Amino acid sequence: MKNVRSQPAGKEPPSCFDCVIVGGGASGLAAAIEASAAGCTVCVVEKLPRVGKKLLATGNGRCNFTHEPLFHGAFHGETALASRILLNKANPEEWFRSLGVLSRKDGEGRVYPYSNQASAVLDALRFTCAQNGVIFKCDFAVTSFDVRRGIYEIIGQNERLRAKRLILACGGCAAPAMGSTGDAFSLLKPFGVEVLPPRPALCPLPSKEPVLRALKGLRVRAMVTAWRKARKLGASLGEVQFQEQALSGICVFDLSWLVPQELSLDLLPDLEVQEVEKLLWELLRTRKTLPAEDWLTGLFLRRIGGELLKAAGIPLTASVSEVHPQQIQRLAQLCKDWRFVVEAPTQFATAQVTAGGIPASELSPDLELLRLPGCYVCGEAVNVHADCGGYNLSWAWASGRTAGCAAAESLRRVPNRKKSKR
Ligand SMILES: Cc1cc2nc3c(=O)[nH]c(=O)nc-3n(C[C@H](O)[C@H](O)[C@H](O)COP(=O)(O)OP(=O)(O)OC[C@H]3O[C@@H](n4cnc5c(N)ncnc54)[C@H](O)[C@@H]3O)c2cc1C
Repeated sequence: MKNVRSQPAGKEPPSCFDCVIVGGGASGLAAAIEASAAGCTVCVVEKLPRVGKKLLATGNGRCNFTHEPLFHGAFHGETALASRILLNKANPEEWFRSLGVLSRKDGEGRVYPYSNQASAVLDALRFTCAQNGVIFKCDFAVTSFDVRRGIYEIIGQNERLRAKRLILACGGCAAPAMGSTGDAFSLLKPFGVEVLPPRPALCPLPSKEPVLRALKGLRVRAMVTAWRKARKLGASLGEVQFQEQALSGICVFDLSWLVPQELSLDLLPDLEVQEVEKLLWELLRTRKTLPAEDWLTGLFLRRIGGELLKAAGIPLTASVSEVHPQQIQRLAQLCKDWRFVVEAPTQFATAQVTAGGIPASELSPDLELLRLPGCYVCGEAVNVHADCGGYNLSWAWASGRTAGCAAAESLRRVPNRKKSKR
């Protein structure tokens, strides 16, 4: 969608837009729909050749666009601001229905488009923008902006635009290959806007534990607890994926923003440690003539069982009947609390979202920058991030819609505006 003008044929773009939106991602397109629906002339500038590249990659190409119910506890950072905005612009399912997207929910509350295709979500956003006359300017990377007498000048390498309102919807720093490289933060630097240091979140946690080499490629269901020193930071149940130098999987992603020093894996979360010990004794009696490496068959994947035995000091070739009661106790503890030292994530390339960003103290309740009247911020650039499951896109829609509505509302008294479309 290169420099597409979706205005009705014959209409020239205005010399000064009501609203320019920097970033044609989830929050930018939501903002464009609301501002244009309220009658504003809107231009979305996007640095990539097309809008919505990241959207197409979400939910493994299926776009998990919201969660039902939308637990506010899944949001982190500026939680009070997030709750208020989510309540105000809640129900993304209804909003998308109004844009022509039917949805379906899986057993865990994750909501997808009925066609199971992320392109259905992007198409609906694009079609609505087109119907509302939104202009898209792609391959337009905004490098700076200025404001004089209430008019914003938005500066790219080859072009400048003027606007009465500016919405920064450039995302955070996560997944930079899809366009978001922290530009909102650098664009705002000259204006003294505070930015909480951006950190990768929803990402694998790096670890140098030698055992990971043996476990590489395996997956196991576990209750994962995040620890810093003796402090429990949080816990999450799910499938852990072992990588050569990291622990991954949605449950690990959800804990990554806490920057733990250790992860503890409870491989048998449905049993108490005494019950695990009893189970091990039971298996020992059934398999007493076998080598230890066959002892845990049926309980764990063979390679995982082998590494647990080694960690408990039990040689794989020893006979099951030779195992000491203390080793059984130790093994039971390991099944319930298998520790991995992990490091702080540093790679935005493997992160799905950004923690940190613009704090609530810099923003009005409808996301206008207090230092820059007429300039709004939405989406991942704001210090709000959430767990996996459709929550982050829910924030993108709600915050984008809030900024779009607020920008339009603030222009309500400007004369000669177009009539509202929806
Ligand atoms: C692989 C992956 C899968 C994900 N899956 C899900 C999921 O299933 N459900 C969910 O809820 N969340 C998911 N997320 C998170 C979700 O995609 C983001 O939270 C959301 O896209 C953020 O929206 P945004 O509008 O703030 O930023 P973005 O979607 O990142 O959009 C920002 C846009 O601004 C453009 N831009 C940046 N700088 C400039 C500039 N200087 N000039 C012009 N344009 C600029 C970028 O190119 C980009 O198009 C996933 C993320 C990733 C990486």
